[in-house]
Amino acid sequence: MDCVFCKIIAGEIPCSKVYEDQNLLAFMDINPLAEFHTLVIPKKHIEFLWDCPSEISSALGEALPKISRAVQKASASDGCNVLNNNASAAGQVVPHIHFHIIPRFENDGVFT
Ligand code: ADP
Repeated sequence: MDCVFCKIIAGEIPCSKVYEDQNLLAFMDINPLAEFHTLVIPKKHIEFLWDCPSEISSALGEALPKISRAVQKASASDGCNVLNNNASAAGQVVPHIHFHIIPRFENDGVFT
């Protein structure tokens, strides 16, 4: 499987891990839009959110608030964006579900 995120899960590519459970892994984005920009991915290779089985969507629903709270605390940010792009039309490049948690500051100009 030529998927960079599957290689991270397999330990073939290093990552800066911030969270792990049975279904999910979270790690720092290698090209962050802000300090503490974090990615949350399922361990199972699934390309699109609409193909998520219920155990993974439940795990994401449980973990995303907790991880975003931790990112918020660590970055001391004013807010954050939680983004998930599906398919190239929506800007998805890595074909493995990932949620970006991007700390935001008032008038930081990262994007609007
Ligand atoms: P989108 O979020 O629009 O789907 P991408 O598919 O390019 O866009 O997002 C993938 C994200 O994964 C990017 O922010 C990129 O910096 C990050 N990324 C790619 N390879 C690695 C890696 N080896 N370790 C950590 N983050 C990575």
